[in-house]
Amino acid sequence: MLDVRKIRLILELREAGITNSKVLSALEIIPREKFIPENYKHQAYENIALPISDNQTISQPYVVAKMTELLEIEKNHKVLEIGTGSGYQCAILSKLARRVYTIERIKNLYEKSIKIFEELKLNNIVTKYEDGNNGWKEQIPFDRIIFTAATKKISEVIFSHISENGIIVCPLIKNEKQIIIKYIKKNKKIISEQYDDVLFVPNLSGII
Ligand code: SAH
Repeated sequence: MLDVRKIRLILELREAGITNSKVLSALEIIPREKFIPENYKHQAYENIALPISDNQTISQPYVVAKMTELLEIEKNHKVLEIGTGSGYQCAILSKLARRVYTIERIKNLYEKSIKIFEELKLNNIVTKYEDGNNGWKEQIPFDRIIFTAATKKISEVIFSHISENGIIVCPLIKNEKQIIIKYIKKNKKIISEQYDDVLFVPNLSGII
């Protein structure tokens, strides 16, 4: 049953404009139900965000696919994710990149995600319990960076983490709205492009 729903979801994502076949097959391979609490598992392949614990959400599959597509990940890339949450977005990234470094500020979510990554044998993910806005300076530079919580402003620390020709994708808060922004570093300058309106939980400081 889940498989029929999964195929339907992949078709829906295609129709919504997701064309990158590697991204679509990553969404087909990773079992989204693993990242979802028991009482919502039956909705795992609906194209909607769902509650996880600690008042957070697992993003809508379309948004995960769109942001992943915008990252233009290549097999040799080192990716940083700020906001592990359920771990779903990170698992998708792990199928496309060489290694994914992911940071979460809520200890409970951090611990849960580690268990799921182990269960799914996703061995190229490195996790950290920290305020992600502080970055991960021991591992710089990163080819790609993704924020999965809505951010008012990306810190200079994070901009300094990205390599030349690197890409950052982020839900940015702008005039009461949230939009997906893609930053590209070219010739040491940052250029930006705007995409869809989205709705993410906020990026918050400190750890809990
Ligand atoms: N990528 C996640 C989305 C989860 S929601 C998924 O696929 O499920 C966003 C997550 O970002 C939440 O778990 C929240 O706790 C975390 N977060 C918010 N601000 C953060 C920060 N400054 N550092 C690290 N994690 C943060």
